[in-house]
Amino acid sequence: MNKVYLLALIASLTMGTTSCKAESTKPAEPADMIMTNAVIYGHRDADTLAVYDGNIVYIGSENGVDAYRNTQTQMIDLEQAFVMPGFIDNHNHVFEAASAAGGNCELNMDASLAEQVPYLKACRNLAKENEWLMGYGFSVDSVLSEENDTSPLEVIDRIFPDTPVVIMEQTSHSMWVNSEALKRAGITKDSSEPQGGKILKDQDTGELNGILFDNAGDLVMEMAWNSLENQFDTSYDGLMTGLEIAATHGITTIGDGRLYWKRGWYEVWQAAAKEGALTARVSLRPWIYPTDSMDSQLTYLKTIHSDDKSGLLLVDQVKMYSDGIFINGTAKLLKPYIDTYIADEPFGINYIAPQQMPSWLDKLNQIGFGAHIHAIGDGAIRESLNAIEYVRSKGATRPYTLTHLELVNPRDVPRFVKLDVTADFQVGSDYIAHHDHSWAEPFLGAERSSFLMNLKAIFDTGANVTLSSDWNVHDINPLVGIAYSIKMGATGLPDIDSAIDSYTINAATSLGIGEITGSIDLGKSADFAIIDKNITRLPIEEIVYAEVIMTVLRGKLSSMPMIINLVACTVFTICLHTI
Ligand SMILES: [Zn+2]
Repeated sequence: MNKVYLLALIASLTMGTTSCKAESTKPAEPADMIMTNAVIYGHRDADTLAVYDGNIVYIGSENGVDAYRNTQTQMIDLEQAFVMPGFIDNHNHVFEAASAAGGNCELNMDASLAEQVPYLKACRNLAKENEWLMGYGFSVDSVLSEENDTSPLEVIDRIFPDTPVVIMEQTSHSMWVNSEALKRAGITKDSSEPQGGKILKDQDTGELNGILFDNAGDLVMEMAWNSLENQFDTSYDGLMTGLEIAATHGITTIGDGRLYWKRGWYEVWQAAAKEGALTARVSLRPWIYPTDSMDSQLTYLKTIHSDDKSGLLLVDQVKMYSDGIFINGTAKLLKPYIDTYIADEPFGINYIAPQQMPSWLDKLNQIGFGAHIHAIGDGAIRESLNAIEYVRSKGATRPYTLTHLELVNPRDVPRFVKLDVTADFQVGSDYIAHHDHSWAEPFLGAERSSFLMNLKAIFDTGANVTLSSDWNVHDINPLVGIAYSIKMGATGLPDIDSAIDSYTINAATSLGIGEITGSIDLGKSADFAIIDKNITRLPIEEIVYAEVIMTVLRGKLSSMPMIINLVACTVFTICLHTI
């Protein structure tokens, strides 16, 4: 797609021509927008779409669209661009991924413990008297390497003797903290460990080493977060940036990765919705706090519940963690880890205990919530399926989704379709496309590592499979996930149509909104990702290079990334309407 083409495309937002019949709603309404000269996914014989009041009212040939056109109708000649259903990213941390609210002390993910020192020193400039300093970017295996002769705590304390500091690891499943942070959080070597968390200690001395796994770290981060002023404004700005990036990639609906509602995030989302600033439909997923009582959380959740599909914000699914992650030894396994940082928990741990999950799901169902459950280890996956089996047996019909699904025991593979549970995967990183899971061998051994990330096994049972980015863990670009899921070969998805479904209609089903979006069908919301090339005809390697030229949500342009990149938007009225 070149500049001349794009400018021609803008110039074509004028009048068009008419006559005849095709798929359409009756009676014909004058359309707000008609798109002609399009290649439309799923409608080989059509080249024209008409949109009225945010919904698709006509799919057919240009000759038949006449009845929908009047002088007010916006006409767009797409010059053979490819119109797809808007992408639905079933698991995306859009609120956090591009935000500075979690701190801007940035370390180096690839650095050893000693190599982090200059990065930490550089962060001293960001520290404010008596305020928490927050940041991100380290890897657990580097800072806990047996080759280090000092502990992470000693290193960070030397640079920050007084300022409380909490640094998040990239997966968000561990925090590196200093002694002042531990003191403020009331954590000592004698503290009991919170549900879903581990307080790490030096194996020889039994002293704290400054690393908190999973929920132990979440609790400290929450304390830091809530102590800072201006978090609302910083979060709002971060959300706007995140949404804008999502829109440039053709994403029209987002399944929220998690809503930390005790950090004021819900209020930020509400403000964005009120101001008409949402460029995507979003299923907000309030997080279930493992250490808070069920009753208090249910009471709050009732107050924010919304399943009004006419709005852009839905709040009818929770985010629940069953377990942690393999590298921490916190993902829950059916058989013990080969090596783990937490030898006292050889099978890993649970955020929500398996004895509690059935009751959680049951009570949530009664107040209108389904669940999107983080389950990585084969133990957590089995336990989560058991909990869903329980609520299904009690008549629960809401959508349930298990996400990540890195290691699934063969016995559990057929249970997804049987229990009507969506299987959500993230594949948008090179090592997954190449099925290189050597990183997991020290923890799981070669055999279990070879079974990791098998989409095909679950897909073949007929279960609903979705792809998502978990942004910013993987690439936000849906075309990367789509291409890589096919590139995976024997463990991936079989073809381009299955991959597209996984990023569109299947994800809509997982969110409980399959009847309003996820495909180009009459009466559905006019949510489109308009791409410069027909990706169903491209070699797999070229799919990721296709470009989104327009994103349309409910018949309105929510992004024109290439145009925005090309010219100052003030030149074009169309941009003024879209950013
Ligand atoms: Zn996530």
